[in-house]
Amino acid sequence: MEKLFKSTRGNQTPIDFYTSILQGIASDGGLLVPDFDFEKKNLEDLLPLNYVDLATEIIGTFAPSDAKEALHTACNQAYGEGLFCDEVVPVKKAGNVYVAELYQGPTAAFKDMALSMLPRMMTLSLKKKGEEREVMILAATSGDTGKAALEGFKDVEGTCIKVFYPIDGVSAIQQQQMVTTTGKNVEIIGIRGNFDDAQSAVKKAFGSKELKELCDEHHIFLSSANSINIGRLIPQIVYYFYSYLTLVKRNEIKLGEAVNFTVPSGNFGNCLAGWIAKNMGLPVNQFIVASNKNNILTDFFTTGTYDARREFYKTNAPAMDILVSSNLERLVWFMVNGDSEKVNKYMEELKETGVYKVDDETLARVQKEFKAGCLGEEDVLKVVHDCWNENKYLLDTHTAVGYGVYEEYVKNTGDTTKTILLSTASPYKFPESVYQALTGEEVDVYTAIEKLHDLTGMEISYPLKGIKDREILHKGVIDRDAILDTIAEKIKEY
Ligand SMILES: *Cc1c(COP(=O)(O)O)cnc(C)c1O
Repeated sequence: MEKLFKSTRGNQTPIDFYTSILQGIASDGGLLVPDFDFEKKNLEDLLPLNYVDLATEIIGTFAPSDAKEALHTACNQAYGEGLFCDEVVPVKKAGNVYVAELYQGPTAAFKDMALSMLPRMMTLSLKKKGEEREVMILAATSGDTGKAALEGFKDVEGTCIKVFYPIDGVSAIQQQQMVTTTGKNVEIIGIRGNFDDAQSAVKKAFGSKELKELCDEHHIFLSSANSINIGRLIPQIVYYFYSYLTLVKRNEIKLGEAVNFTVPSGNFGNCLAGWIAKNMGLPVNQFIVASNKNNILTDFFTTGTYDARREFYKTNAPAMDILVSSNLERLVWFMVNGDSEKVNKYMEELKETGVYKVDDETLARVQKEFKAGCLGEEDVLKVVHDCWNENKYLLDTHTAVGYGVYEEYVKNTGDTTKTILLSTASPYKFPESVYQALTGEEVDVYTAIEKLHDLTGMEISYPLKGIKDREILHKGVIDRDAILDTIAEKIKEY
């Protein structure tokens, strides 16, 4: 039986795996979700697999059965051939938690886990659908996604990628990472404007009839690499199994013993992938959803009300600064048993009024599996400081949010279930804050990297080594009003 994907809003004819990957977002504005029951995995069978084989097995349960071999090749290119450090996901111990380090990839942050795989799934999908056009990926970024997408798509057959970023809206290190990207099919363009200007122009491009006609003339089509693509979600299921099985192999837990996962969250894609893993047979007791000062998810999980009518804060864990957490729509869909009328109603309310509230039954169901908490900026620094002093384990600010929220959870509940904390970034990716946390001193970003290294002896993540001296390859900067015209120019160059 063919496995199809449908929209959370219920107004798109179900489509196959490959089409879903290429399409990105559902045509009715919803998100694509599986129209089939999750396949239960036998943990014992998975235990001996290395990361590449495990990824093939897990991702393969969502794809047609004849894709196995091609998927294995893709997984090997993504996780086995030198993009990641030797161990794709090392699991370490820090105090009471096990830390699964999801930052060993080419940009030193967790987006690499999926964005190293998505481009390869796109190439595969182009082939399987007999698609002769090339795909142009458009991405607007506030920092992390852009670089991870660039690294993922660079020199990938059948694809090219254009990234737009606000020149005053990303960190110095993120900008330097992007503008020094090599590869013949990548382009990075700065915008005089903010992230929303970039994002809304890119969204407009997807809906533009003129650009569509231009694309047809030049034999290409547009697609997106952001976390609404189901191809971002599926590869993230793998490391939940992997980190669990690592602990089994080390005799830290017994096969079948339930664990908790603590997940620093923003768009909720990471945590949702864990919930899917649970539904595929991974023994999970609780998910602990951790937010920073932008605590809209904490409020949702504690009250059932999602209220976006609030102030937006720029914090020291910027990748989690978010008001509209797009993957939550998928969770709500699952929690109302696929009742797309209900999902439509909630999303309509959110659009019209900025707020929705799920019914009591749904809230009860959500709260059975998810606990949530948040941490302010000062506390984040304190957690980084204390964790280093007590455990000699260096947390980045995002992971520190998770660590602090977990400590609070244990204090409140007394839960002694073994817990895996997902580490979403290298401490060297946000070094000024981490260095400030340890010493109280404020220094510039490159000094912070050096000083952190001197102070802790922790190896500098390979993507950030020598970054200051890399050649700047992309200097283009345009006005925000020129984004659509620029995209049209790029299409014409084909
Ligand atoms: C994207 C990101 C997150 C948030 O992940 P979501 O899947 O959006 O919840 C957390 N930490 C870092 C460092 C990130 O880049």
